[in-house]
Amino acid sequence: MYSQEQMLKIIQEKNVEFLRLQFTDISGIVKNVAIPATQMGKALKSGISFDGSSIEGFARIQESDMVLRPDLSTFSLLPWSTKDDVNEARLICDVHLPNGLPFEGAPRRVLYRQLERAKEMGFKMNVGPELEFFLFEKGNGGSATTPHDFGGYFDLGPVDLAEDVRREITRALIKMGFTIEASHHEVARGQHEIDFVYDDAIKNADKVVTFKYVTKTIAMRQGLRATFMPKPVYGAAGSGMHVNISLFRGLENAFYDPETPLNISDLARFFVGGLIEHASAITAIANPLINSYKRLVSGFEAPVYITWSGPNRSSLIRIPSGRGLSTRLEFRSPDTSCNPYLTFAVILAAGLDGIKRGIDPGDPVDLNVYHLTAAERKSLGIQTLPSNLKEALDHLEGDKVIREALGEHVYENVMRLGMLEWEEYNKFVHPWEIDRYINTY
Ligand code: GLN
Ligand code: MG
Ligand code: MG
Ligand code: MG
Repeated sequence: MYSQEQMLKIIQEKNVEFLRLQFTDISGIVKNVAIPATQMGKALKSGISFDGSSIEGFARIQESDMVLRPDLSTFSLLPWSTKDDVNEARLICDVHLPNGLPFEGAPRRVLYRQLERAKEMGFKMNVGPELEFFLFEKGNGGSATTPHDFGGYFDLGPVDLAEDVRREITRALIKMGFTIEASHHEVARGQHEIDFVYDDAIKNADKVVTFKYVTKTIAMRQGLRATFMPKPVYGAAGSGMHVNISLFRGLENAFYDPETPLNISDLARFFVGGLIEHASAITAIANPLINSYKRLVSGFEAPVYITWSGPNRSSLIRIPSGRGLSTRLEFRSPDTSCNPYLTFAVILAAGLDGIKRGIDPGDPVDLNVYHLTAAERKSLGIQTLPSNLKEALDHLEGDKVIREALGEHVYENVMRLGMLEWEEYNKFVHPWEIDRYINTY
């Protein structure tokens, strides 16, 4: 952590011309205001005021003054600079009210609140998100979803034309302080994944946001469009953001227990129990778009049913092979359009509820659940994830634990924005309907 003096010194030494102060709105979209060097002292001391009513889901017009307070630990130079000898830098900010209190409707704040609760129970949450994305050709007569290459899972160039782009993205991320674990072509044409190491939940939520705009920026500079839309191509895999979760008690991984069959502790099982109980409501946050639900269908390694298992990739929660310190749960429903702060917060709230109440998740289901019949699922007591945004919002409405975790402000806005999106979509006449009906009827 830097002091204000140290920060100003670094900014001078690195010849930072502009500083971008960033935060995210309720949909996880990055907002920023750029300030020139002359304003930095003031911004660091007393924050920068902005109009909260212009930010989606923040404030009503009559009480709209808000203040950005930079979190100095997030300082980073932007790896692309406009000129050779000067730099641009960014700082991620917390949002405060003019009276100095934190604004409870800011997504980063929602995650802080849950992490505090975990801390009171003796835990620290680590997360390792895995982001997938598509690279498409930009323009040149192709449609918006013409893939950039014809590679498949783990392919090697020259099929994988995107190797260069992926390398450039990886370089830029490393310059911004990421430790990259792996990068590879994903299953679909034009689809990729780059993984970074697990870390503290706030740090990695910040990193998810950074990851997205770095990827988009580098792709754009190479004449491509990167998208984190969950299901851009019908009939191909969608883009997930699996979240690997562990709870630490001091230096110990509280999910590890070598004495049990899957080597996971009772605590981990209860966490799974909580996730299963609240899975449907979490979906409204982890899968926030109409399009999200086109990914949650059978056959593309995305979850459809609320099950947990050892290594099985058709289930919602999987226990990856790492043991000891790397023991973790992989929660597979979130997609890349979600707000990572809110998503990590509701995952944690669900897990803590499971721990508090000792919720038993039942036995793991080690079958390919895509292949079970409805009757088999029924006899195994397997529930289905919400199949559209409206269903997910209904579950959220009925889930006190998840609502409380979001807080009144965020909850109300998620419902309002979600219903708007749902109604808009339902009114629209889609090309699919024209194709299907216009001659038949
Ligand atoms: N793309 C898949 C999803 O939608 C995941 C594929 C994988 O990483 N095994 O979640
Ligand atoms: Mg992966
Ligand atoms: Mg993957
Ligand atoms: Mg995974």
